[in-house]
Amino acid sequence: MRKLLTALILIGVGFALQGCGVKSSPEESCNFVQNSEQQRVSWSGSNTVIIYLDTSVPDVYHDAIKAAVATWNKNIGREVLKIGGITEGKNGPQQDGANVIYFLKTWEDDRSNEQARTTVYWAGTRIYEADIRVNERDFDFFWSDDTVQGRVDIESLILHELGHVLGLGHNSTAKSVMAKSLPSAFLRRDLTSDDLASIRCEY
Ligand SMILES: [Zn+2]
Repeated sequence: MRKLLTALILIGVGFALQGCGVKSSPEESCNFVQNSEQQRVSWSGSNTVIIYLDTSVPDVYHDAIKAAVATWNKNIGREVLKIGGITEGKNGPQQDGANVIYFLKTWEDDRSNEQARTTVYWAGTRIYEADIRVNERDFDFFWSDDTVQGRVDIESLILHELGHVLGLGHNSTAKSVMAKSLPSAFLRRDLTSDDLASIRCEY
């Protein structure tokens, strides 16, 4: 059986750490991505993070993505994430100052087991951009309360990727939404107490 997983690409810029008054003491990870100084990276201190939907995102999944956004906001207790509307990223996912979700029909042959991939950019401890790409070439999706054999629940998948957007890494704790792989025909739409404990370290 094929091993499914989601990937996280981390792109940190170190220069901000050299600024005056920037703390350089290590922190507990709380399951967050950490920079080279072992400090958590997040959007902490930022206003609402606006995420755009590329035109490649099927209309039928817009509400699923909004539901995943609502789950993080409800648990954090404020609007930390917001869907900003539809955009056309002409050149596909890249560092362009906007946070965008893409569905891609092309994918690297040697990474065909990746359901999705989130790229997070930060400087110092501050995330300033994140992009999500969903592997539409190798996976089929669904969004309903009834699971569909052989298909991946798009709300569960996006909930996980949004966790990466917020700065979370993978978490092997039972039932965590940040577990590395999401089986097909499986719903994982609720945060666990472990996920909540993680997110409260920064939000
Ligand atoms: Zn992941």
